Amino acid sequence: ILVCAGTGCTSSRSAELRQSLHNELTRCGLDKEADVVPTGCFGFCELGPVVVIHPERVFYCQVAPDDAKEIVERHIAKGEIIERLLYKHPPEGATRNTIDENEFFHPQHRVALRNCGVINPEDIDDYLASGGYAGLAKALTVMTPAQVVDEVTRSGLRGRGGAGFLAGRKWAFTAAAPDTPKYVVCNADEGDPGAFMDRSILEGDPHAVLEAMAIAGYAIGARQGYVYVRAEYPIAVHRLEVAIEQARQAGLLGEDILGTGFAFDIELRLGAGAFVCGEETALLNSVSGKRGEPRSRPPYPALSGLWGKPTLLNNVETYANIPQIIVNGAAWYANLGTERSKGTKIFSLAGKINNTGLIEVPMGTTLRTIIYDIGGGIPGGKAFKAVQTGGPSGGCLPAQYLDTPIDYDSLIAVGSMMGSGGLIVMDESDCMVDIARFYLEFTQDESCGKCTPCRIGTRRLLEIITRITEGKGEPEDLERLEDLGRDIREASLCGLGQTAPNPVLSTLRYFRHEYEAHINDKR
Ligand code: SF4
Repeated sequence: ILVCAGTGCTSSRSAELRQSLHNELTRCGLDKEADVVPTGCFGFCELGPVVVIHPERVFYCQVAPDDAKEIVERHIAKGEIIERLLYKHPPEGATRNTIDENEFFHPQHRVALRNCGVINPEDIDDYLASGGYAGLAKALTVMTPAQVVDEVTRSGLRGRGGAGFLAGRKWAFTAAAPDTPKYVVCNADEGDPGAFMDRSILEGDPHAVLEAMAIAGYAIGARQGYVYVRAEYPIAVHRLEVAIEQARQAGLLGEDILGTGFAFDIELRLGAGAFVCGEETALLNSVSGKRGEPRSRPPYPALSGLWGKPTLLNNVETYANIPQIIVNGAAWYANLGTERSKGTKIFSLAGKINNTGLIEVPMGTTLRTIIYDIGGGIPGGKAFKAVQTGGPSGGCLPAQYLDTPIDYDSLIAVGSMMGSGGLIVMDESDCMVDIARFYLEFTQDESCGKCTPCRIGTRRLLEIITRITEGKGEPEDLERLEDLGRDIREASLCGLGQTAPNPVLSTLRYFRHEYEAHINDKR
């Protein structure tokens, strides 16, 4: 009996549910027949707590601790399916209510999320049984460091943190840097509103990230890694701590890994929640004990990162793909996705969408497939108005782009960006000026204040958009927003400021009439 132990389901009493299932199995004398296994997030957060019962993989949702008695007495003891706990909207033609037939899961292709909702993240044996650490073993025993870098490069994997830089090229730059020691860092400082991709990977499959970092250490010649993770992710932090200790005990971290003479270890560094610390130079400053402020580049971290030494920095999702790329080969990965954006991408679905949750699909999947087929459409039969991609750094796209196959380049071409993968859906009742103001308020609040265009510019931008939403705007304000937005984008020091005007500029581009309505109608 698999029970989701991710943050979403935990907040809906899944820990209590697991205990009740244990108690009922014992009471009924079935504790030798069935076991209760906590897993990471299944992704269907809307319907938590989620329970999946093997071997048929029957999918029960919104299960309460009080349901444990019936599950054990009927399903486990007699093999009966409990209708009232099944997903209410099975796809047409489905004869069984298994997780595999569910409309939410069926169209997905899971690489980075492959173990989330499948294994117990606090048990290294579960990870090993699912092929875990085979990538590290292969890299250490049959590949040279240069071959590992080459494999990652040929896979076409691009950094999943937002910028989409080719991961293999970053690995190659760091490997070629002459200075030592070198470091491997994982950016787990996920901060976009509505985004929880990295949190779910860390909660559901922490060993995949550790394994990838060890592979990276071997590839670039580093002995030490750091995971910079938000302190607001207590479950992820706890599971990382457990996983690091288990990997050390199993000889998969530390000295002489797998008897090959390669040494690599990982420590955690907790971030205090500043959004700007997701920017790479600010993050590295924070890890090394300095104030978490960005600095200008070059030099890039590949040459001068932690303590001025060559440092490889990737985010959680990027690393989660690495073990599979090493095990299955670059060609396997490059076969997925589009010409210039290989592989799969995780998206978190939030806002006005029926199936709130976490999904992974091949790059190039259309927004329509994601929002309507997997996401179940808009609640209450309302009309779709826009989707914000890329979090506060991204832009709002209207219905005319629903059939855009999404990848890094196609989203930029229509004025938005991939970002880390947050998708927030708006319906016909949402005011796009209010939405733009919300994101701007967020970035303005999170501006570190180091450079003037961002510190002062975002404040002025926020003042203008606020007076528009209060019915006090003037027609000239639209030009002011555009001019100032472009200046901030051009002149800010780091990505936070450079992208802060995006929600304003994209809504001005596609929903200008809503700004004009506020100004003309004085509302
Ligand atoms: Fe700080 Fe904003 Fe300048 Fe980045 S752009 S350094 S967040 S003030």
